[in-house]
Amino acid sequence: MSIQIVKSIREMQDIAERFRCEGKIIAVVPTMGYLHQGHASLIKIARLHADVVITTIFVNPTQFAPNEDYKSYPRDLDHDKTVAIDAGADIIFFPDVSEMYSKEFSSIVEVEGASKILEGSFRPTHFQGVTTVVAKIFHITKPHIAVFGQKDAQQAFIVQKIVKDLNFGIKIIIAPIVREEDGLALSSRNIYLNDTDRKNALVLYRSLQYAAKRIQEGARNVTDIRIEMEKIIKGGNPSQIDYIAFVNPEIFKEVEIIEPPVVLVALAVRFGTTRLIDNLLIRLK
Ligand code: AMP
Repeated sequence: MSIQIVKSIREMQDIAERFRCEGKIIAVVPTMGYLHQGHASLIKIARLHADVVITTIFVNPTQFAPNEDYKSYPRDLDHDKTVAIDAGADIIFFPDVSEMYSKEFSSIVEVEGASKILEGSFRPTHFQGVTTVVAKIFHITKPHIAVFGQKDAQQAFIVQKIVKDLNFGIKIIIAPIVREEDGLALSSRNIYLNDTDRKNALVLYRSLQYAAKRIQEGARNVTDIRIEMEKIIKGGNPSQIDYIAFVNPEIFKEVEIIEPPVVLVALAVRFGTTRLIDNLLIRLK
C-alpha cells in the first residue's frame, strides 16, 4: 500500500480544490509527525466523516522557543507513512520549512486571553506559532472538517476560537485522549523518557484520577485538591511542576471554585528535561 506525499503548497491547494469541485468532503489532521496511536485515532475519526483524509506532518519551528526541542524533535517519515496508511489517510502533506515560511514571511494569527495562560505563560510565543500555522494549513488543505486531540486541550480551544472569530467555516472535531494501558497519555515526546521517568510519569494520570474522585465526592475548592495532586506528582520525582490548573473549558479561564457542569484539570510537569502535558475533563455528577 502507498500513500500520496505532497510537499508543495500549490500542488496541495490544487488537489484540494479539485476534490471540492467534485463535491468531496475533505478532513485534515494536522500533526508534527512521529505518529502514534493517538494521531491514528484522529485519522480514523476523520475517515468516518470525510471522503478524503489529509494528514499534515510539519514540525513547525515558530511554535518552539529557542531553548526548546525543535532540533531534536523526533522525525521518521517511513514510520509515519505506515501509521497514516493503517489509520486510513489518503494524503500526507509534508512541506519543508522553506516552503511554509518564505524569507519575507511576517504575518501572525493570534488569540488574546486564552493563549496567555497555562501553556502560554510557560511558552509565551507558542500559540501564535500554532494558530498561524493552523491558519496556513487550513488555507492549503481547504478542509470541511479538521480533527484535533483533547490531549492539547488549550490548543483545541484556541483553534476553535480562530475558526469562529475568523469565520473559517470548518467543523472542528475534538478527539479523546489515547493512553497507554497504564494510563500515560501517548505523546511523541514520550520517547525522550528513560525507564525510570517513564514509570514515574504515571503519577500524572494518577493525580488527575485523584482530582476526579475528589470532585465527584463533592470537593469544590481547588486549593485543597491541588495540594494533594502536587504530593502525588512529587512522588514521581519530577524535575519541575509547571502548573496544575482547574479551568472552565467553555471560556478557558482558571477557576478557584469548581462549578457544574464541567471542569478541566490540566497539568504540565517535567521529568528530567522532558516536559509532559496531560488533562482530564470532569463532568460533575
Ligand atoms: P502533535 O503531533 O503532538 O502536534 O499532535 C497532533 C495532534 O494529535 C494534536 O491535535 C494532538 O492533540 C493530537 N494528539 C497527540 N497526542 C494524542 C493522544 N494521546 N490522544 C489523542 N490525540 C492526541
